[in-house]
Amino acid sequence: MYVVFARKYRPQTFEQVVGQQHVIAALQNAVSSDRVAHAYLFCGSRGVGKTTVARLLAKALNCKQGPTPQPCCECDACRRIAAGSDIDVMEIDGASTRGIDEVRKLRENVALAPARSRFKVYYIDEVHMLTGPAFNALLKTLEEPPPHVKFIFSTTDPQKLPETVRSRCQRFDFHRLSEAEIVGALQQICEREGLKVQDGCLEAIARAARGSMRDALGALDQLGALGDEIALQDVLAILGAVDRRLMAQMANVLAEQDTARALSLLDDALSTGIGVEDFGDQFAQYLRDLLVASYCGTDSAALMGGGVAPAASGLAEQRDLFTTEQLIYMIQLLREAALRARRESTGRLALELAIIRASQLSALVPVQEALEKLDAEPVIARAPAAQAPGPARNAAPSGPNKKGAGTLRRISEKLKASASGARVEPAASATLPEGMNRDEYLRLAASAQDPDVVEDALEDGPLMRAFLRADKELGLNPQRLRRRARADEEALPDQEE
Ligand SMILES: [Zn+2]
Repeated sequence: MYVVFARKYRPQTFEQVVGQQHVIAALQNAVSSDRVAHAYLFCGSRGVGKTTVARLLAKALNCKQGPTPQPCCECDACRRIAAGSDIDVMEIDGASTRGIDEVRKLRENVALAPARSRFKVYYIDEVHMLTGPAFNALLKTLEEPPPHVKFIFSTTDPQKLPETVRSRCQRFDFHRLSEAEIVGALQQICEREGLKVQDGCLEAIARAARGSMRDALGALDQLGALGDEIALQDVLAILGAVDRRLMAQMANVLAEQDTARALSLLDDALSTGIGVEDFGDQFAQYLRDLLVASYCGTDSAALMGGGVAPAASGLAEQRDLFTTEQLIYMIQLLREAALRARRESTGRLALELAIIRASQLSALVPVQEALEKLDAEPVIARAPAAQAPGPARNAAPSGPNKKGAGTLRRISEKLKASASGARVEPAASATLPEGMNRDEYLRLAASAQDPDVVEDALEDGPLMRAFLRADKELGLNPQRLRRRARADEEALPDQEE
């Protein structure tokens, strides 16, 4: 009979558990020092080992050699608990056993002495699903538990538990497993099962599992059923995952601002059957990793790759491709597109637009960057007009027309207001346009925040030239600014979600 990997390789000793060292150490300590609490609350997302650790604790308490932090795994109690068939260790599913009647029955049962073991252990999974009256009934038991009873509750959603219940439990937070931890565990299983996997397969499985060992093992089960040799192509198809190499290529192409190539790469990805939403999510995740790598290095545990070599190696080469602001901006674009794809049939279009905009970063982002920096620094004093030489001087060397004069006055006023806020330096890498100093540039960038100014600039020759001069190096093309402003207006309702 085929036994799924999650069951076949469920850890039988504390040492075999992947991750969660903080929980294991504390529990082993409690057992050896005879300070096991009467109720524990295990919190954490699905598939991170809550049930496994609950069974191990039950074994530690009831092992014939115990209570011991190293249960023997051989005695009757250990075997029965491992099989989930011990009458003194009750596993209850909070989702299906959630009413007052069930909890009343449980309370009656609690009063009885254990049948064969030292302790009766009640493990209630998804305990937050219990009804209000059921919680009240449970609370009475928790207040005065008989000494032979231990409760272990687990939940993916601790906030939904009444405070009265939470406060009576010792709480442990289980972490999502890192990709490195999952890959390590999968490698061992592949060796024992004689499964041959191509490079990158296990990393792709781990990434898609998002910290859940159970999900990762489920995927491996499914792939193992295809044969003893696992190809990356199959893995990606089953997981709905985008090839990491393709994403690395996409990042390069976007950095080169090659829009045509970016669109053709996107088409390649989607033609393999990847969903629009999946691509948006996963590429955003990839850029997020670049962002993390640029700050924390490519061996950071904060990377989704958790420092896994193949995933990290590409990041090392690419982490300086983009500025922080560019990465944040692209991630936002992709997330918006993925959200749209979730709701609309035109999701592909949304994603293509996001990719197009991401491929024209130099035109857009420096402005954004400058504006954000200016926003971050509040205006503390107004500089006198005479001391605030703004781009107005540069903008109108040949004397503006009447309409232009009005626009320049407005800009000048704005510049005066923001003069003392313009102390932020542009990125060190940015080259300033000829004849323009840093402060002037920042002020011009600040004025570009106002869509009306941008509109006016489009109709005013000298002003237009000033913007274009700045655009060459710094991205102040009024056409693009206008498109950007309009797209932002359209995107606004989405952001409120
Ligand atoms: Zn034992």
